[in-house]
This record gives sequence, structure tokens and C-alpha cells, in this order.
Amino acid sequence: MPGKNLSREEAQQRAGVLAVDGYLVRLDVTSAPDPAAATFRSTTTITFRCSEPGAGTFLDLLAPAVRSVTLNGRALDPATAYDGARVHVDGLAAENVLTVEADCAYSRTGEGLHRFVDPADGETYLYTHYEPADARRVFANFEQPDLKAPFTFTVTAPAAWDVRSNAVHESVSTEGSARTWEFAPTKPISTYLTAVVAGPYHVVTDHYGRELADGTALEIPLAALCRKSLAPHFDAEEILGVTKLGLDFFHETFDYPYPFGKYDQAFVPEYNIGAMENPGCVTFKEEFVFRSKVTDASYEARANVVLHEMAHMWFGDLVTPRWWDDLWLKESFADFMGSYALIGARTRYSSAWVTFANQRKAWAYRQDQFPTTHPVTADIRDLEDAKLNFDGITYAKGASVLKQLVAYVGSEAFFEGARRYFKRHAFGNTELGDLLGALEETSGRDLKSWAAAWLQTAGVNALTPQVTTDAEGRITELAVLQGGTADDSATPSRGLRPHRIAVGLYDRDADGALLRTDRIELDVTGARTVVAGAVGRRRPDLILLNDEDLTYCKVRFDADSLETLRTGLGDIRDELARALAWSAVWNLTRDGLMPARDYVALVLRFAGQEGNIGVLQSLHAQSKTAVDLYAAPEWRAEGARRLADGALHELRAAVPGSDHQLAWARFLAQTAGGAEHLGLVRGLLAGSARIDGLEVDQELRWSLWLALAAAGQATDEELAGELAADNTAGGKRQYTQCLAARPTPEAKAAAWSAVVDSDELPSALVEANSAGFAIPAQRDLTALYAAPYFKLLERVWAERTIEIAMRIVGGFFPIAQTDEQTLAEADAWLEGHPQAAPALRRLVLERRDDLARALRAQACDGARPADDRA
Ligand SMILES: [Zn+2]
Repeated sequence: MPGKNLSREEAQQRAGVLAVDGYLVRLDVTSAPDPAAATFRSTTTITFRCSEPGAGTFLDLLAPAVRSVTLNGRALDPATAYDGARVHVDGLAAENVLTVEADCAYSRTGEGLHRFVDPADGETYLYTHYEPADARRVFANFEQPDLKAPFTFTVTAPAAWDVRSNAVHESVSTEGSARTWEFAPTKPISTYLTAVVAGPYHVVTDHYGRELADGTALEIPLAALCRKSLAPHFDAEEILGVTKLGLDFFHETFDYPYPFGKYDQAFVPEYNIGAMENPGCVTFKEEFVFRSKVTDASYEARANVVLHEMAHMWFGDLVTPRWWDDLWLKESFADFMGSYALIGARTRYSSAWVTFANQRKAWAYRQDQFPTTHPVTADIRDLEDAKLNFDGITYAKGASVLKQLVAYVGSEAFFEGARRYFKRHAFGNTELGDLLGALEETSGRDLKSWAAAWLQTAGVNALTPQVTTDAEGRITELAVLQGGTADDSATPSRGLRPHRIAVGLYDRDADGALLRTDRIELDVTGARTVVAGAVGRRRPDLILLNDEDLTYCKVRFDADSLETLRTGLGDIRDELARALAWSAVWNLTRDGLMPARDYVALVLRFAGQEGNIGVLQSLHAQSKTAVDLYAAPEWRAEGARRLADGALHELRAAVPGSDHQLAWARFLAQTAGGAEHLGLVRGLLAGSARIDGLEVDQELRWSLWLALAAAGQATDEELAGELAADNTAGGKRQYTQCLAARPTPEAKAAAWSAVVDSDELPSALVEANSAGFAIPAQRDLTALYAAPYFKLLERVWAERTIEIAMRIVGGFFPIAQTDEQTLAEADAWLEGHPQAAPALRRLVLERRDDLARALRAQACDGARPADDRA
């Protein structure tokens, strides 16, 4: 197989000579329900111009077979024209018509046209997913974002199916058992944004209307889709309700009418990512259709994604980055807008910025401290680079930086800039300078130095308060120290940035509550900035830098403030300030500045008081990581026991039927180890034990089975019995994870082999196997797979699709073997494979860094005697 990669230079060259007038794409998927049929017929006719007649070019196509290639009526021999990844054509005219007829493959990896058979009823479902460059798995095309064109799709499918694409269908004709859907031409869009969804989907329709500024009426047909067997769980009204609020909000904010006609939202099986902003035909992972009770954090996350994708209709779809270097332009903007719109559109999720501070930023901080981090504006040489850049920098850090930019230029200037940008570049492609230019016009500020500091450098600054007081306890000076983005002390000032921040001063009131008594907003510049307004005030109990979370930084504390948090973090009444404090102590733990057992003690002491359900769920996940990876080995068992005891205590104390009760029940399942905990787990499954108000529904049942399986207390018959009772896609995933989690050499070998020795599994089951395989507490059982892991990396990268390879490289890395020997093995592989694919090296470097971080945290924890204040 020749290279599937495409370089930026090749894309630039092609865009330099070609202009595409339109695509006609004809797909015949009538074979899809036949499991023996591996391919479908795909015919593309492209009309395009060439500014250098006589020159050659190539189309992108990943297909098992090409049947014919016809350029301007001249038949080319597919055997010579097609090399397995590209169709080469030469002798172009000024105006060209090129037709390629191919047999393309149904996908099992979520890349291209994915085919899924529902175990519940045997029905077949199809959907496409392309970003960044998998449209070429479905039809021949010029696969780069800046060769936009109108697409006209025609799809022939089984007659009973519903078929959707970016545009509305213009006609449907049935012939025998097949039906052909002719869709209207789209507006000019990029190849990666085209979409087809086909199958016996359950469809809920609605519509949205509003009067535009010029008095015309805008009507947008709405639809929400999911598999038939999920229909009983599908709360389409809730989704469509958020959709309408969002459409109101974005029309008011962007002042540009929704450009893509109708708005379908399809929830599709085995989806590799959260969602994709295909114009008029958004696809979501179907885990957003909740089969069992979930907490409000899940509803908020889904609403956020609905609004994120909707923001893309303007930012990404109407105006599209020229190349993947500026992927961040659309993703950072949409990520910011997801949270902004949750509040601006008056949804019921009023804590959106708490979630952003607590969860999105945690993702950014982690990514930004890897040795592989990169500036927000990245250097994307090729498609493999692009694939890995859907990361915490592009989404969460970029969004954080935009939040800081809004604080810097003001929201009026920011959104007026966005409005001008949409009008100016509608249906075109842009680069960073185009957005900055519009923002400079509206804000009157020079953004070049701001962009240089925030967008063109990598890393996160730490801000630390430095306070001195007089004999009466009054502040004589409060300063903010800024750390550079470089870890090495030789360049302490590298990467200092301007930060607009608020400083919160908090004191205890008579009831012990920590309340803000002062707020000082200032610009932090350089390594040390004096907070002018603080002198003469009584020293507060807590100094919280970056209160209100305006900037992107790691927050540190002075010693007295840290002591206040140890005894009273949960007493901070303001939800956002408390979330920031939790985030800051977690960063201290990750950085080896707070012993893991001290962090666990904080969680055990105050998590029971945490009102925000999303924050509580973060605390659960982080405290588990603290015990599994960051605690000194000799304290692990003790830490695990404390977490399980704490979970049981809070589960019994939680309000019956509450989200908090469910979260603690799940946490008990994740931490249960001793006989008492596992006995309760079994009792809940059998119905012999009850917790008032706790419904043991299907997803919770699987969580409980996972606890028993990992403890070696679930028999094969019991697990098979549960699968028989829940013979669904979700059930299959859970069952697979339970099998892999059993604490036996045979179970580990089977999970390993299922993924490594076969390429049959879809990514969801690859993940289920790796999650069950890699349970940290079973590190003794998985130790012998460390060496084989490093041996198979290059083969996996060469042989598997990138979605699957990324999951194997990330999921089977021996992270639980937190010892120097495993670190040395990782280093040896990196040293021995300088020529390995850069994207593969990047993944290994990041996991290696996780391991090194765990070792530093363990050293910190081991140096501290046990904290018994829990
Ligand atoms: Zn996005």
C-alpha cells in the first residue's frame, strides 16, 4: 500500500492549480445488509478547472478496486492510474470532467462508511465519518479542506431505509427492493464535511422558524435520529429543545442566517468521537442516548456538544480553515461557544463555566505539559499530524485562550469581530490572520503581541501569590509570581505571558463558610506583578489567584491559604471558586508538590459536601488515579481501602434517588475490593441488598458486574447470563470489558490476543478490551506484556487504521508498571526508533511522560508519612 498520507505542500500545490465546480457522487449500498458483501459501488464525477492545462494531478481514494477512470471522455487504465491511495491523471484541460468508478469497503473502524449490525434486532445501520481525510474511503475526491465545492449525492439503499445527507432530498424512486434518493446540491463545502446516514433509523421531526432582520422568514426542518432499538430511551424533545434555544442564540449572536437549509442530528453506533459538525447532518455518538439513569453532568455534556456542533455551522463549515494548521480556529471557537452558549442561550445548565474550569481545563493542563505539546497554532505537516492534533490543546487550551481573549478585548468587540469574519469569508477558507484582523478592527487593539504570547508558544504558566504582612496581620505587599512555560530552571522566564486575572480574597464568616470579601482585577505581566489594591487589608484566610477563571494558568497557593484549604476547601461557598480550588490541588498532586494521600484525604473529607455533580465525578476519577498511579506503592492498598470505605459511607448518606447517590454507587463499584464492599455489590445485583432510592438499572448492573469480575468473583455463566438479558451494543461492550477484567492470566491473554492478533474488532471493543486488560491493581498479571507491547508498536502502526492503532498504543501502554524498569524500556524504544512515524512516537512519548510523572508523584508521596487526618 503506497502512502496514505498527504502533505501540506502537496495540498498547497493542488489548490494552486485546481478549482472545483462540483461533485456528483453516486453510492449504491443495497448490499449492506448482506454480511458477506464487503464493498459498495461508488461513482464520482468531478467537474473542475485547471489553470495549467497539460498538467497532471491526483485524486484521493482508498478503495479495494477501481473499475474505471475517465477523463474528458478518455478512458484511463485503472491498473496504472490507481496506486492504492491515489488516482493519477495527466493531460488536464482548462475545464475537465473526471469520472471514477470504484468498489469501496464498508468500514468496521468508524473511518469512512461504517457498517453496524444491531445485535438486538439484526438491523443494519450505516453512517459516514471523514474528518480529517476519510471521504476518500467512500468516493474519489480532492481530499483537502480548501477545495470546496457543491456536492450532489445520489444514494441507492434498501427500500425500507431512511437516507440522509447534508442537503434535503429532491426525489425518491423505488425499484424492487431498492430505493434511490436524489439529494439537492449542497452549498460549497469541504470533502471532510460531507455525510451520508442510512438505515432503518428511528426519526423524530420538528421545525424551527424565525423572522430575519430583513423581514424574511427562515424555516429550518429539524430531525433527530437513533437506532430503532434505542428509540424507547430517546429523549428527542430534550435534544430538540436545546437545538431551538441554540438556533435562537446563534442567530442573535452571529447575525448570519443558518446557511445549510435543514438540521438533522443522528446518534450513531460505534462512533469514535463525540460528534461531527457535518453541515445539516450532524453525527453524535449514540452513548448520548441514555439507556439508564445518568447524572445531570451527562445531560449538560450532551447539550454542550449539541451547541458546539451548531457553532461549527458558522465557524468551520461556512468559514473553514485552509489547512489543518488552523484546525484550532474552528475547534477552539466551537469549544468556547459550547460553554458560552449553554448560558447565553438560557439552557438550564447554568454551571457551564464550572464544568469548563474543572474538566476542559484539566484536559488542557495535562496535554500542555507533555513534551509533545505545541502552540495553539500548530505546524501540521501532513494528515498524520492532523489526526493527532484533535487534542487538549486544539480544543480546551484554545478555548481557554479565547476566554482570556474575551476578557482582554471585551465580548462586544469579540463577537462583532466574529460577525464581520463570517460575512467576509462565507463559503471560503481562512487562516489565523483573517480572524485576528477582524478582531483588531473591532477592538482597536494590536493583537500581534497577544497572539505571539498566547497562540504561538506552548506550555502553561503557574501563578503563585507572595504575601507579606505586618505585626497586626495587615498586608504590606501582595505579589503574583509567574512561572515560565519551560520546566528547566535555566530559562525561568521563557514563555511569560500577559494575564488578565481576578484575585479573590476569602475569609471565614461566623458559620465557618469561606466567602469572598474582596476582588481585585489586574494585568499580570512579567515574572512578578504587585497587586496594588491589596496593601493595608487584613490578611485573608484564602488568597485565590485567577478567581472567576479568566485566564489559563496553574494556580498555586501561599502556605497559609493551603492550610485553609486542608481544613476548609469544602467550605468555599462559591461553586466556581471551589472548583478552581479543587483543580489547583489536583495540579499540585500531579506535579508532585502535594502527596497523593493528602489529596485523597481532601477528597474523602470534602467530596461529600460537593454540590456540583460534574465536579464530584471528577473528584472520583482523580482520587482513583491518585491511589492507582501517584501513591507510594506501600500505601496503595490502604488508599484503595479508604476510597472504598468513603464511597460506601457517602452512598449510604446520599439523598435517595439523587444524582449524587448514583455517582457514589458507581464509585463504590470502581473501588470495591474488600469482602464487605463486594458483598454489598453482589447483594445489589441479586436484589437481596437495597439502598433506598437507588435503582439498579442496566448500566449500573454492568458497573457492579465489572467490580465482581475484576475481583474474580463473577463466573463466566453469570456474565453470559447478563449479556443474554442485555443483548445490545452497549451490553456487548460491557460484557467484553468484564471478561478482560478477570484477574487470571488466561483472561489477560485473551484480551490481548483479541486486539493484537486480529483486526476484526471495532474501536469500541478494542477500547473495552484494553480498559478491562489494564486495570492498575492487576499490574502483576499484566507485567509480562510490557516487553511485547514495545515490540509490536511499529507493526500495529503499519497494519491498522490510525483510529485503531491510536487506541492500541494508548490503551495497552504499561502505565500501571510504575517502575524505573518500565520507564527504561520506554526510553529504549524511543531511542531505538528515531525513524518511527512521528505520530506514533508522539503517542509513546506522551504515555512515557505519564509514567515519569507517576514516578515523581510517588516519590513525593513516599517522602511523606501517612496523613491520618482523613
Ligand atoms: Zn468541534
